[in-house]
Formats: sequence, structure tokens, C-alpha cells
Amino acid sequence: MRARRQRRRGIKLKHLGMIRKGKTTRRPPPKKPSNNQKDPVGVYCRVRPLGAEDEECCIEVISNTTIQLHAPDGLKANRNGEFKETQYSFKKVFGIKTTQRELFADVAKPLVEDLIHCKNGLLFTYGVTGSGKTYTMTGSPGQGGLLPRSLDMIFNSIGPYQAKRYVFKPDDKNGMEVQNQVDALLDRQKRDSQTSVPKTPTTRRTDPEFADMISPEEACKAGGVDEDSSYSVFVSYIEIYNNYIYDLLEETPFDPIKPKPPQSKILREDQNHNMYVAGCTEVEVKSTEEAFEVFWRGQKKRRIANTQLNRESSRSHSVFIIKLAQAPLDADGDTVLQDKSQVNVSQLCLVDLAGSERTSRTRAEGSRLREAGNINQSLMTLRTCIEVLRENQMCGTNKMVPYRDSKVTHLFKNYFDGEGKVRMVVCVNPKADDYEETLLVMRFAEMTQEVEVARPVDRPICGFAAGRRQRNQAFKDELTHRLEERGGPVDGESPTVLNQLLQSFHPLPPCEISGPNDDVTLPRLIEALEKRHKIRQMMVEEYNKTANMLKSVLQEQDSNLLSKENFIQEQRGRLGEKDKMIQNQKNEIDRLEKKSKMLEYKIDILQKTTNIYEEDKRSLQHELESREQRLQREMSEKRRMETRMQGIVTDAKLKWEKECERRVNAKQLEMQNKLWVKDEKLKQLKAIVTEGKTENRQPQRPSREKDKVAAKRSVSPSPVPTGPLVRPLHRRSHSAGGERWVDHKPTTNVDLDTVLQPNIPNAIKVNAPNEKALSKCDKYVLTHQEFASDGEIQTKLIKGEVFKTRGGGQAVQFTDIETLKQENPLAASRKRRSSETGPDGEPMERNWTDVETRCSVAVEMRAGSSLGPGYQHHGYPKRRKP
Ligand code: ADP
Ligand code: MG
Repeated sequence: MRARRQRRRGIKLKHLGMIRKGKTTRRPPPKKPSNNQKDPVGVYCRVRPLGAEDEECCIEVISNTTIQLHAPDGLKANRNGEFKETQYSFKKVFGIKTTQRELFADVAKPLVEDLIHCKNGLLFTYGVTGSGKTYTMTGSPGQGGLLPRSLDMIFNSIGPYQAKRYVFKPDDKNGMEVQNQVDALLDRQKRDSQTSVPKTPTTRRTDPEFADMISPEEACKAGGVDEDSSYSVFVSYIEIYNNYIYDLLEETPFDPIKPKPPQSKILREDQNHNMYVAGCTEVEVKSTEEAFEVFWRGQKKRRIANTQLNRESSRSHSVFIIKLAQAPLDADGDTVLQDKSQVNVSQLCLVDLAGSERTSRTRAEGSRLREAGNINQSLMTLRTCIEVLRENQMCGTNKMVPYRDSKVTHLFKNYFDGEGKVRMVVCVNPKADDYEETLLVMRFAEMTQEVEVARPVDRPICGFAAGRRQRNQAFKDELTHRLEERGGPVDGESPTVLNQLLQSFHPLPPCEISGPNDDVTLPRLIEALEKRHKIRQMMVEEYNKTANMLKSVLQEQDSNLLSKENFIQEQRGRLGEKDKMIQNQKNEIDRLEKKSKMLEYKIDILQKTTNIYEEDKRSLQHELESREQRLQREMSEKRRMETRMQGIVTDAKLKWEKECERRVNAKQLEMQNKLWVKDEKLKQLKAIVTEGKTENRQPQRPSREKDKVAAKRSVSPSPVPTGPLVRPLHRRSHSAGGERWVDHKPTTNVDLDTVLQPNIPNAIKVNAPNEKALSKCDKYVLTHQEFASDGEIQTKLIKGEVFKTRGGGQAVQFTDIETLKQENPLAASRKRRSSETGPDGEPMERNWTDVETRCSVAVEMRAGSSLGPGYQHHGYPKRRKP
């Protein structure tokens, strides 16, 4: 059973939590965005004890926030066991043993504190008739309810700081004015003179009806009361019956013969959008007792009216309004500041609602039934308003809340629309008879706590320095003390200063009158008295002067003090600012220090890295240097080697060149010898052959001398191989006929005196080739001499054809070379001449004539050729530009 309950409660709470969560996100924007903090309506549940012990119970408190309803046996049967148990959660649940004091501490105390701190509050009790609403709100003797306790707490808190009566005076627009001291005094005197108005009771518990409501040891006090403000409490008490408002404190002359029915009041809205009962009596009260007396007065009136008009009190709503006016003391700390804008008025409404049951429990008939309907109507409106508010807040809708449909809701409109703290105590009677009504009450109560109300904001404080009241009090104390010292109090025991003064007066002369004709005593007495009178006047003047002086001095001192204090305050403010700045800078410094540490650390790391890199660099440089040195060394070594090698190579080359030349020469010689031998053999053979054939022709045999010469000469073959084998003695150019030659013979040539020299007719003989000669001819021949290695002289006939060039000059194209060899006739005397000094000095030709020709003659002889080596010679045609 227990476990099941727990589980159910868990589900219920979870459900509630979900609703709340949804609400915060979907709440519509407030109509008056003065502050955006909201609090849900605080709903508390109080369960009263059963009237009789044997009654059936349908409620169980299962925790300090949850109660459980059990359907009574009769209902269970009817409803097939459905909805057997339901749980409801509230901000707090108060069980049957809860004392009035405990309830007050939780429910009303915060509201009273708010009231003292200029914030409005609304507290109402809700429940069916007989559930303990009135008990909770008012209480009973010895068991004071929320109302007397609230009043008591207020007066305990502001008691010493209350303003004199009539300093605050309500205007007729729900506001509060500050009267000047004179007007207030006059009002007070007027009140005192009216005997009909009962005076404030001087002792507690004079009326037995509210005796012992609160025991003194239960006294409560609010904290943080501003001592430099002056306070006044005003109470109003109204009843709303059948949607009419009645002022329960209104003074109406009582007519026992024809009692006047009470006049209903109307609601108005003040400039702060707060609703108020127009023309409602507001009674200024100075103590708990006085306030309670006023309350009882209203109660009595209500009872009488109900009896007279045959009304049922459970059908009416009663509203007790506690208004607290507060205003700062002036700079002196003596009187309330005469500034209406500085007056703050807050109010706490304590509402004992009518029974919430749907139908009259007493068998209402006729007019009573109609009333019952109306009363129910106002509670219905309350429920509707709460529902719409909840919907608007949870779903973001903007439905109109029907506050105006009933006086109760209209009166408290601004608590829901504007700001304030709203609390509700739901009273329940656990008896089974009330089950169905209680169920409705519970549902309404749960819904109500989902409505949120804007939290009241703190009021700004006035600009005066704090501690004004204390200072003023201290000043007054000081003054009385001094006066006491001087003249003693009025009832003083030993007025020293006064005695001294009195002693300084001359004693009165004997004033016994001897007879009717005593002309001496009376004038003397008159004179003495006149003298005394004069002295007295002087003293009074003196006293006044001194007093005035003292007062001005004190005032001056006070203003000085005040300005000093203001200054101190200012300085404190500055100090605070500076402190903040210092704190900020400290934080900044801290931050920077941290940063610098961090950077230092980084620098350290970088330094280390740099060191490592530098070390690396150094070692690498070192290595580089050593390598460079090695390279240098190797290079120089290489150079040395190169030069050495070059030396060796040139040496070797020279050697081999020499060797080659030597060998070539040797070979040439050898070959020439061989050639010569063969030539000789061939000649001999030829001679033998021709001798036999031409014996009859008698050919002239050349002389031995000539043979020798002829044998020695080497005839270069003509380029025309078809020529005769033996040439005529006078060698003629085969192309002499018709052609014109340039015969170039350098002067250095040796006259060989031989027949083998060319003899060209019509040739132009020149020592050096010239343009003129070349232009006239078409053939060219150079006779070039040089010494062969064997000491013979070698003559070359270099032939060419002359062409006309495009530029108008001549070019020679060599076509043929003939080489003749002969013994140097100047061998002994003349030096061998180098071909280098050739007539045209062209090295190509020199080479060609010198080595090539000789080689081709010597080496390119074809073996077995029938023509012999002389005919194997080829002329290399070479083209060259002039
Ligand atoms: P309501 O105002 O709701 O109609 P009352 O406050 O008049 O109900 O209570 C009806 C009766 O029950 C009164 O006699 C009251 O003393 C008594 N009563 C109500 N609540 C409690 C309670 N918590 N403890 C003791 N008695 C209570
Ligand atoms: Mg009641």
C-alpha cells in the first residue's frame, strides 16, 4: 500500500514538473514589463482536525507537501471504485497538529516583511464552510490567527519609528499625504476632544473577546526596518456580500427605531492601476491592540448586520486591508519629509473567502437561494480568472481575464496583472461528508499554483544620509541632560542653578499690613515685586537669547555634521569605486602576470631551442670548414696532378710525334728506296724490251749523265692517264694550245736548269700573282719548290683554272699538281727551304703540297699497277675563295 502511494505521488510530481517546465518557455510577455521575475502563487494546504473522533476521514497527509484523498465508502460503491485515491501537492501541507504560530511563520511572515519593505501582498483562505478559514485567518482566544499575528509583527517592527497620528493622511484616491506638524497637531486635538471616539487602550487585552490572541513570548519582528523612515498603519475592513461592498468600519449614527441599511461602496482604480474601495474608512492605528479593537468593531458590525438582515456570514467574503505608509525623515531626523512623492504605501490584504461549496448547506429558500447563487458566482469568477491566467501564461494566449465579473476578483486585479506576492491557504476538513467539495477545492488549488505573479521590485531609497533618527535622538537626550544639570527637571529634587538664582534675589520686605492706612508696606512691597519682575524679564530674555544661540549653534553643528556625513558617504562611494577599480586592475595584473609567465616559459623554450640550433650551426659550420679545407686540399692536389699529367702528356706527345715523324721518315725513305729500286728494275726491263724493238730506228741513248738525272727524277703523272708513257723531252702543257696561262714562279725558286720545267707559250710570267695577270688568263700554274727529306729538291706544278667571280674579281680553282724531284744543285751551299715561305703563304696549300702530296705519292701506290707509282698520284681538287 505504501509503495503504491509513493509511486503515484512520483508520477504526479513528475507531471507537475513537466507543466512548470513548459510554462517557463511558453509564458507570454508581461503586460507591464517593469520587472521580469515571476513567482508562482504560493498555495498551502491546512488540514483541520475532525470535529468528532468517530467521523469518517477522507484525507491523509502523506508528506509535508502532499495529501491524499480517499473516496468515502458510499462513493466508491457508486463509482465502481474509480478515482479511489488522488494525491495533491502544494508548497507545503500543514497537518492537524500545526499551530497557528507555525503556520504564520511559513505563510504570513514573509508577506509582513514584504509589506514593511514597500511590497504588496495578498493572502486569502479558501475552502468549504467549516474547513477552518476563519480559524486560520482570525483564530480564537489564545490561538490568534494570521491576522492578529501579522498586526503584532508589524507593530513590533515599526513601533519605535511610528509617526505621530495624522502626520500621514489618506487622500481620497488611495494615496497618502504628509501633513505639516501644525495640522497634524490640530487634528490630534480635535480627536481628543471627541469623546465618542474611544482612546487607544493603554494596556493589552482589555477586550475579553481578543484577550490572549498572541502571547508576548510569541512576538515576531521583521528585520531590516529603515530607522530613518517614519511609519503609520491604516486599516480598512470590508465585506463583500452578494457582490456588494460594505465598509465595516464606517461610523453611522445608530437609529434603534429604524435602522438604516448599510450603503454599498464602489471600486475605483488609482494612478498605479491598483483597485480601491472609494470612500472606504481607513483608520490609523498605533498598536496591535488598537488595530485589533478596530477589527473587532468591524466584526461586531458584521454580525449585527447579518443578524438584522438575516444573512449567513459564511456566504460573504471579508477583506481586512493593512496599509503601511512610510516616508523618510527630513535631514534633521526630526520630522517626516514634507514630500508626497517620497511617501511609500504598501498594503497587505487578508481575505477570508466565503465557503466554496456549490449549494447552500443550510436549506436556503427564497431570497437566500438567490444570494447563494451570487456568492457562488463570485467564487466561480475567481476560478475562471485563475484558469484564464494560467492558460494565458502557459500557452502564450492573450485571453481577457474576467476580473470585472465580480467584486472580489476586480479588487485584486492588479495583484495578478501588476505585481505583488499572492498566497493562498486552502483549508480542508477531512470529514467524508465534504469529500466531493474538497475534491473541487483541491483541483482549484493545484491549478492556482501554476499561475505566476510578477515579483514586486525594491523601491529606491531616499538620498538622505542614514542614521538621522539616532542622531536626532542623541541630540535631544544631550539637551535634556544639560537642562537637567542647569535647572533640574520640573519635578527636580535639588535644582542647584535655580536655587542659586533664587538666592540672588533680595528677600521680600515684611509685608504685614498694619492697617488700612498703611502707606509704607504696600508701596514697598509693590516696589520690591516690580524689581523682581524686571529681573525676571531680564532673565527670560537672557535665557531666550542663550537658547536661540544654542539652537543656532546646534543647527549649524548639525548641518556641518550632515555635510560631513554626506562627504563621507560620497567618499565611501568613491572608495568603493576605487576598490572595484583596484580589484579590476588586480585581476588584470594577475592575468598579465600569468600571461607574462607563460611568455617567459615560451621564451625559455625558444632560447633553449635557439641554443640547440646554434650548437648545431656551429658544429655544421665547423664541419663545413673542414670539408672546404679538404676540398681545397684536394683541388690543389688535382691541379698539381693536372699540371703533372699535362707535362707528361705533352712530353709523351712530343716524344710520340718525334717518334712518328722519325718512323714516317724512315718508312718513306724505305718506300722511296723500294720504289726507286723497282723503278730502276722497270726501267731496265723497259730498256731491254725497247732495245730489241727499236734497234733499227737508232734511238739516241741518253748519256750516262742524263740517264742518271732521268733516273733520279720522279715524274709525277699527268692527271690525264691516257697520255703517252714517255713524254717528249720538252715537257709541254697539254692544254697550251688556245689557252692563256699565268705562270707564277716565286723569285725564291732555284733555277734547276732542267728540261722538266714547264714551258708554256703565251704565258704571263709573274713572281707574285696579281689581279691584272689573272684577269687576262683562264689558267694558272704555280711552280713551287721545296726540299725533300732526302736532300733532293722537289718541284710542284700546281695548276688551276681562273674563274670570274660575281664580285668582278678572279678566283683560282686548283685542279692538278705535278711533282718533280731533282738533286739540289745548291745542296751544299743552300739551306733547305721551307715551303712555309710559299709565294701566297697559305698554310693549307703548304700542308697540302708538303705532307699530303708526299704521302699520297709514296703511300697510295697501288701494288701490281701497270702504270707504276708515278701514275697513281691524284690531285685533290680543292675549292677555295680568293
Ligand atoms: P470556516 O471559516 O471555514 O467556515 P471555521 O474557521 O469557522 O470554518 O471553523 C469551524 C470550526 O472548526 C471552528 O469552531 C474552529 O474553531 C474549528 N477549527 C477549524 N480549524 C481548526 C483547527 N485547525 N484546529 C482546531 N480547530 C479548528
Ligand atoms: Mg468562516
